[in-house]
Amino acid sequence: MTAKAYAAHTAESPLAPYSLKRREPLPSDVQIDILYCGVCHSDLHQARNEWKEAVPTVYPCVPGHEIVGRVSKVGKDVKKFKAGDYAAVGCMVDSCRTCPNCARGLEQFCQSFPTFTYNGADKISGGVTYGGYSDSIVVDEAFTLKVSDKVNLAATAPLLCAGITTYSPMRHWKVGPGQKVGVVGLGGLGHMGVKFARAFGAHVVLFTTSPEKIEDGKRLGAHEVVVSKNPDEMAKHATSFDFILDCVSANHDINAYLSLLKLDGTLTLVGAPEKPLPVAAFNLLLPRRQFAGSAIGGIAETQEMLDFCEKHNITSDIEMIPIQKINEAYDRLLKSDVKYRFVIDMASLKA
Ligand code: NAP
Ligand code: ZN
Ligand code: ZN
Repeated sequence: MTAKAYAAHTAESPLAPYSLKRREPLPSDVQIDILYCGVCHSDLHQARNEWKEAVPTVYPCVPGHEIVGRVSKVGKDVKKFKAGDYAAVGCMVDSCRTCPNCARGLEQFCQSFPTFTYNGADKISGGVTYGGYSDSIVVDEAFTLKVSDKVNLAATAPLLCAGITTYSPMRHWKVGPGQKVGVVGLGGLGHMGVKFARAFGAHVVLFTTSPEKIEDGKRLGAHEVVVSKNPDEMAKHATSFDFILDCVSANHDINAYLSLLKLDGTLTLVGAPEKPLPVAAFNLLLPRRQFAGSAIGGIAETQEMLDFCEKHNITSDIEMIPIQKINEAYDRLLKSDVKYRFVIDMASLKA
């Protein structure tokens, strides 16, 4: 089947229309007509090859891993879906499924490397995977998520990456009542981080470089908002946090946040800036602080997060765009000008 898409053809060129082949559904595959796809900052990093040798980009690259759509066809062995159901796909479309990490439901840490939704090595075609900036996708049902027909589908799409990437570490480090929790950067990930930390019952402090986001930060669930460029405001919070989630897409001073952790507090990085972040040793040694990382979440946990969001009425705050505005959206991401996730209305691809 031919799919319409938008692709980056080089690191420097804007995304442009592209057509690609999707496989005919195999017995365990679900074929999805994509309705909405969120725009993650990772899409921009990857399209522009900013992660270089860590995750080199194969061109043409069709980004997009916050996918919600309607099932159009299923393979003969598919049990969870039928044509007409809503379905979602996040950052992974396969993994080895047998290694110890996969066996624990941590497919994102598959020891043979998961197959990412785009720019991944496609085990079936032998080529590269193409993501959700497209009108269709074919994915094994084991990596396809259920979406309720009662939710706002467009505002649910960003949960597939921004949602799970913030939900999973907060669950892992047991964010909850009685804790002081910081979220750094109010973008796609950060605004979901604020919502989850609040929903889990923590005292939530948002750190932003953008003073104009203070009111939004509070509306989204933060008890306090700190403008991180102001050293006096930062100093008031020294050595006081149990947990901080760093959602910043660009290089910044990580030491400014490490010094806000109390004894045994943890700073978890989910942002993936291009360059290394230097850490001052004494910011970790005293008082026994931890600096950690986390990546998306496993499939079962992603379904758990979607179900939690439906139950607690949590979605992303979105700005819908036609796909023709994707390059403008990337420019705005770089200016921290997003409220708080762009979502592509895939009907625009038919225009
Ligand atoms: P985004 O929507 O562009 O938000 C990033 C936010 O970071 C901005 O809104 C801004 O917030 C802050 N920021 C930007 N430049 C900054 C700078 N120079 N100094 C300090 N703060 C700055 O990006 P996103 O989609 O949320 O993604 C964030 C990062 O997470 C990206 O690097 C992305 O690749 C990565 N990511 C990782 C995973 C994972 O599994 N670990 C998953 C998805 C994405 P303020 O205006 O509030 O300061
Ligand atoms: Zn993402
Ligand atoms: Zn595995």
